[in-house]
Amino acid sequence: MPDLPPIRSEAAVEFLGELQLTPRGRLCVPCAAARLGLEKWAILKLIRETLLAGDVICLHTDCSRCCRVELVAALRPLPYSRLDEVTPRRAPLGL
Ligand SMILES: [Zn+2]
Repeated sequence: MPDLPPIRSEAAVEFLGELQLTPRGRLCVPCAAARLGLEKWAILKLIRETLLAGDVICLHTDCSRCCRVELVAALRPLPYSRLDEVTPRRAPLGL
């Protein structure tokens, strides 16, 4: 059986795109909620979905946006990333 890519929800693709466009790519829950316009629990569900799909890892470190040391979601580092399958849907900040 071939290794099929995980099926991601539209919100998960948007969340991954946001992580890709964020310098250093680490977002805490409040910053991700603010960037995506979602509530905290929706972000936690997105983190669970992308964590189970192998797209992100969770770390206790500083957030790329607010610089507070929190539990943050970060893109899974190469060579373990599967993000070549995801294209960001948002323009980077400042454009
Ligand atoms: Zn933050």
